[in-house]
Amino acid sequence: MTKQIRMSVRPLVEYVFRSGSIDNRFRSASTMTDGTIAHQKIQKTYQETDEKEVFLKTEIEYRDIQFIIEGRCDGLLHSDGKVTIDEIKSTRGDLSGIEEDTNPVHWAQAKCYAYMYALDHDLETINVQLTYVHVETEEKKQFIQECTFAQIQAFVMDVIKQFEPYAALLLEKKDKRNASIQKLVFPFEKYRAGQRKFAGTVYKAISDQTDLFANAPTGTGKTISTLFPAIKAIGEGHLERMFYLTAKTITRTAAEDTLRLMKEKGLELSSVTITAKDKVCFKEKTICQKDYCEFANGYYDRLNDGILDMLANETLMDRQTIEVYARKHQLCPFEFSLDLAYTADAMIGDYNYIFDPRVSLKRLAEEQKKQTALLVDEAHNLVDRARGMFSAELFKSVFLQLKRSFKSANPGIYQTAKAINDELLAMKKRCGDARFSVAEELPEDFVVMLDSFVAEAEKELLEQKTGEEQEQLLDAYFTAKNFVRITELYDERYVTYVEYEKSEVKLKLFCLDPSHLLQQFGKGYRSKVYFSATLSPLGYFKDMLGAKEDDYAVSIPSPFAKENAEVFIQPLSTRYRDRDRSVEPILSMLKNLVETRPGNYLIFFPSYAYMNLVVESAEEADLPCELLIQDTGMTEEEREAFLAKFEEGQTETLVGFAVMGGIFSEGIDLKGDRLNGVVVVGVGLPQLNEERNIIKDYFTKSGKNGYDYAYVFPGMNKVLQAGGRLIRTEDDFGTIVLVDDRFLTPKYQQLLPVEWMDYKVIR
Ligand code: SF4
Repeated sequence: MTKQIRMSVRPLVEYVFRSGSIDNRFRSASTMTDGTIAHQKIQKTYQETDEKEVFLKTEIEYRDIQFIIEGRCDGLLHSDGKVTIDEIKSTRGDLSGIEEDTNPVHWAQAKCYAYMYALDHDLETINVQLTYVHVETEEKKQFIQECTFAQIQAFVMDVIKQFEPYAALLLEKKDKRNASIQKLVFPFEKYRAGQRKFAGTVYKAISDQTDLFANAPTGTGKTISTLFPAIKAIGEGHLERMFYLTAKTITRTAAEDTLRLMKEKGLELSSVTITAKDKVCFKEKTICQKDYCEFANGYYDRLNDGILDMLANETLMDRQTIEVYARKHQLCPFEFSLDLAYTADAMIGDYNYIFDPRVSLKRLAEEQKKQTALLVDEAHNLVDRARGMFSAELFKSVFLQLKRSFKSANPGIYQTAKAINDELLAMKKRCGDARFSVAEELPEDFVVMLDSFVAEAEKELLEQKTGEEQEQLLDAYFTAKNFVRITELYDERYVTYVEYEKSEVKLKLFCLDPSHLLQQFGKGYRSKVYFSATLSPLGYFKDMLGAKEDDYAVSIPSPFAKENAEVFIQPLSTRYRDRDRSVEPILSMLKNLVETRPGNYLIFFPSYAYMNLVVESAEEADLPCELLIQDTGMTEEEREAFLAKFEEGQTETLVGFAVMGGIFSEGIDLKGDRLNGVVVVGVGLPQLNEERNIIKDYFTKSGKNGYDYAYVFPGMNKVLQAGGRLIRTEDDFGTIVLVDDRFLTPKYQQLLPVEWMDYKVIR
């Protein structure tokens, strides 16, 4: 049977014709919106008989593969009995720099469309036209070639010939993958309690093309419970790929380990891990230019060989494997991982590759999204991460500095930076003594000023000068550009606020409710599975992550026996005003705990200040244990050293002091006797601040409990995460002490997990 591969024109010609180097020198790139507007403007100038956005499709057989090629051409122009295929490209760059042969990919794209149309309509000749348009000046530059059918047919056949080895490899891998999935059985002896239900619901959500919100406590085996059904869905033809998205390295590693385990059981599925650019870069500085970096120089000339080599030999493309092949083919490891992500069956990476408007994987076509599932791990983190991704801020000092630096060097930059600086100063004055002011509208006039600055900065940056001022300008340019980009998302779910401290003024477009944008940026994917051990309260997270009415939700009970953890509540006020008074009772509880139950403990506080207050007295109190204290800004090594102290079978008791919501309260796994107890001081409320209060007011106005949305739910999430460090397996036993009188009130009792409800009160 002939094998089939379906391709869009763009990736097909990009694969064959890409060449040259990575170059992140300043270029004035047009945004998607700019480009769409410019396209539409050109299309509006078409005659009545002309057509736009015409869908074209063809089938070509070569060797034993049938290539189904499709795409949408920008324009189909009819004049004097001639047909012209018009391919429009928008740019912000200087049109005089564009020559006929500047970009072979553009010609190849247009010629493929021309071939498909000429074949369908029996044309002997057809014109192929490239129209370059400047997004601001709307100036045009066109190139046109008259081609015979024989010429474009030969051209397209040559493209197919060059693409065929890659297609053959992809098809071979797909066959192997599907056959291995058919045989794949659940890689553990038995399903744990709740696991079958969870995995089944994930499969159902994917096959029903619905989103799922799942609260799956520690021990449910959430990584395998999501990956396994998603892989089965690939085998059943519901999916082509999945993206496993996480906020932390440890959960990324867990996903890799789970895939590795299934590989050992025979699974042939390709996966790529994307590691942040600054972590994986081979050079001292991330200056991605051919003159500085040999891995950037000629990157696209070597990329296809690298991809073919990797795909032919590897399935689990983790950071280490990517580095090996990147060195072998002299490729930038970061860009290489992104390019591999488009071909792999699974991508493991941070949320921002999908949801952040600044860095998302932009080349993923709508058709591919429909065959992709998003598995969003630790989804409770996504609420605040999304707020950050969809917000933008800038500072007055940046523009004051530019005004000074460019006073005589560039009047355009001086004037526009000065205007921004003056306006921020005026905003500061309007704040008055409050130091803070909030508005529900976008500062339209200010955005116009930023636009002028961006235009002036672009002119200067295009000259590619070097020096500290130029670097400052580039940073300010990106900040301003991002700010303007976020204005395009701004709606009633945003506010604009100004805040000042001494001479510094901050202006922020603050996204209060990210649900709508998460929905928008996650649109088009077959299914999204949001899961976490603490997606609780589920209703709150569904609301914040943009659940639709008919989405699925599931709450899995903890698979561990209640008896594994003995829970105590010490009803003590830990409110700000009572903190001094709370020190002594906390220490006496701690002393009693370590004397009666020696072992390894973690005690979590809502802030460093509170933690240090207790630490000071603890050091004097002569507790019968070693104290370990978390510090701000610990390095990776210091963090590892802190955790390494928690050893099994220690004779001396150890108490680690840490903060809730910090590096030790989430994503650490101290199994067995490495951790015998956890103390959580306070209900985790985020610090009272202006931003939180704006969130509170916004949700109160929308008819919800604003205080719960801004403070209580995020706070309790931290408590559940911190407490959740204790019982990691069914063989773990230990003690949890919750220190706060609010834990005994109905509001907080509702938010405690069932398995903590047999608590005893410490009087
Ligand atoms: S190796 Fe580093 S400097 Fe070179 S292109 Fe990659 S990220 Fe840029």
